Amino acid sequence: MIYELTEKDMERLLQKIGEEYDVFGSKEELGEVVFSKISSFSEVSEKKSSYSPKDFLIKRSENILEIPRVEKKAVFGVKSCDLRGFYLMDLQILNKDPFYTVRRQNTLFINFVCTEKCPGGFCTSFGGPVLDDYDIQVLHIGQSYFVEADPRYEGYLAGFRPALDQDVFVKHSEEFNRKYGKIELNGIEKRMKWSSKLWTEFANYCISCGACNYSCPTCYCIDVYDDETGRKKEWDSCILEGFTRTAAGNVRPDLSDRLRQRFYHKFKYYKLSKGEYLCTGCNRCVDDCPVDIDIKEVITHDYDKE
Ligand code: SF4
Ligand code: SF4
Repeated sequence: MIYELTEKDMERLLQKIGEEYDVFGSKEELGEVVFSKISSFSEVSEKKSSYSPKDFLIKRSENILEIPRVEKKAVFGVKSCDLRGFYLMDLQILNKDPFYTVRRQNTLFINFVCTEKCPGGFCTSFGGPVLDDYDIQVLHIGQSYFVEADPRYEGYLAGFRPALDQDVFVKHSEEFNRKYGKIELNGIEKRMKWSSKLWTEFANYCISCGACNYSCPTCYCIDVYDDETGRKKEWDSCILEGFTRTAAGNVRPDLSDRLRQRFYHKFKYYKLSKGEYLCTGCNRCVDDCPVDIDIKEVITHDYDKE
């Protein structure tokens, strides 16, 4: 069932949810959109956050000798591409990483469906901004907020007005995908070439900063190490030189190999092992890359011509 809420109703919904969860939201602060605690719906920004909200699930750094704590959090204003990223990560780490699992099970995400494509974004290549899997999904058109909830959360919508148009999400999805078109993936998992010049070209100007991994809603790799405060796990990046360093040497000493690994993992290995590409088209890796390396080039490159 889809409900049609006013802005006042959204405030009531937030307060209702706040009776059980600590409420966070995307907020504009000093020109950036970031997630922090909120107490009112009026604080929520519908713009894409500067970084993906994955640190609600995978902390940048934490002690793994501690028992994962159950903290019930609700997060307003995540974008559909971020939530899709979490479903992709679930395929690999849900029920394997206890810290991720306990957070995933206790975090309620309220995703906002984009009404306009963000600059550079290519979510339409992965289905567009309307999701089939969600906790609570919101589409803001004019004065109305159309809201649908997974059965686990439908109770929060009791008492609000059912929408007259129960196809509003389907229609929006069709219109959005038609309006913006898509970059065809065309079996990228089969087209990419191990020996492509693209990897060395990228390596000529990549500065190995790792920002592409850290900003990505689907990158989940971690490093584990001991220090004086305990055993830690920390976000890692497959682009960094130390990522594959072992006692026996480094299996990917060349930056071009590490760049190729990143794109092969996203567009080939994950597809072959999990049936999905490990990308949502959010474009954050491009937005945050200091030298403008664009993942879309990997998709559109003509490998046959090389
Ligand atoms: S566009 Fe880049 S940042 Fe976004 S999901 Fe794909 S790889 Fe990750
Ligand atoms: S963000 Fe750009 S420069 Fe930094 S590691 Fe990624 S591709 Fe290289």
